[in-house]
Amino acid sequence: MIIRSVEAFTADLRLTDPIRIAYAEIRDVRTVYVKVQLEGGIAGWGEAAASPAITGETEESMISAISTIAKGIIGRDATAYRDVDERISSSMERNPSAKGAVSTAVLDAVAKGYGLPVYKLLGGEGGSIVTDVTIGLDSPEGMAEGARRWVDEGFRTLKLKLGGPVSLDLRRVEAVRDAVGDGVKLRVDVNQAWSLEDSISAVDVLEGLGVELVEQPLSASSLMELSELRSRSTIPIILDESVFGPNDLMSVHEKGAADGINVKLAKSGGPIRSLDLANSARSLGLELMMGCMAESNLALTAAVSVAIAHGGFRFIDLDSDLYLSGQPVGGGFTRHGDELTPLDSPGLSVDVDEMNMERRLSLGHWMR
Ligand SMILES: [Mg+2]
Repeated sequence: MIIRSVEAFTADLRLTDPIRIAYAEIRDVRTVYVKVQLEGGIAGWGEAAASPAITGETEESMISAISTIAKGIIGRDATAYRDVDERISSSMERNPSAKGAVSTAVLDAVAKGYGLPVYKLLGGEGGSIVTDVTIGLDSPEGMAEGARRWVDEGFRTLKLKLGGPVSLDLRRVEAVRDAVGDGVKLRVDVNQAWSLEDSISAVDVLEGLGVELVEQPLSASSLMELSELRSRSTIPIILDESVFGPNDLMSVHEKGAADGINVKLAKSGGPIRSLDLANSARSLGLELMMGCMAESNLALTAAVSVAIAHGGFRFIDLDSDLYLSGQPVGGGFTRHGDELTPLDSPGLSVDVDEMNMERRLSLGHWMR
């Protein structure tokens, strides 16, 4: 299974309604799809969402990175996918989404070659996972209305985006709790918007409102303050923007700054790196959340496959398909309300509609 060519396709993913978080409003997402073809014709696919505010990557930077990565893996045996992943990772600093997309495409192709679903290639048995759904930042009334709608559609866990000021945030959570009752689990994601003082005053109120966890209350680099908050909070603190890879994980662990981390394939550099990061985090006693960017079914299926293969993810936040007005990718998994089940066929089982992409770029081809 020699890697013969690497191509990139671009697309614009539009959201049905804009989603507001603490530092951005997302209306559409520039996306790069990667196609890795093996000798013999098997093709695997990966996806990378431009996310300048989080990973620092844009459409153009990702295409450039993928072009460099391609040079290091073309002509290599894809069945040695850990070695290929190491080459991808060491090809340059940063660029985790671009690396993750290529690594995902290699795994998809190898799994197809072996006739196995990706989650099985990664050692998983199968089954389903239950995800939350995210409610974007809005007025307390607007968020309560959105919450009611999702609960009517069968969701049992809601993740509320908060963004300050803290008094308004607490009214948002209160309004949602009043609207959905005590039977629904609530999580909040502050996306770095609070100060330490805000957070200390908020966690007691949030505990009273039955909130299950608080994600990234303080800025990504405020590990000492996060550690202090954690010593005063009875609600688990989960870090997202603070943790991309193993070095961040060690810093967070040394400072005692978190009860858990949000693992995203786009931050850690793909499925293999995410599994490794998850294993390290578990061995340090940290809880795991699996999250996503504004991604289509391709990246989501890769994340579902990693979560199923690992088996230790306590919190699942894979919901971006629900917000897209359309996507050039179908399949991968079935969704029944909040339950996600990967398809039991080779690779990621996604159907990619190349005709529905904007650009096609050849980034490398094997010459004998
Ligand atoms: Mg987050």
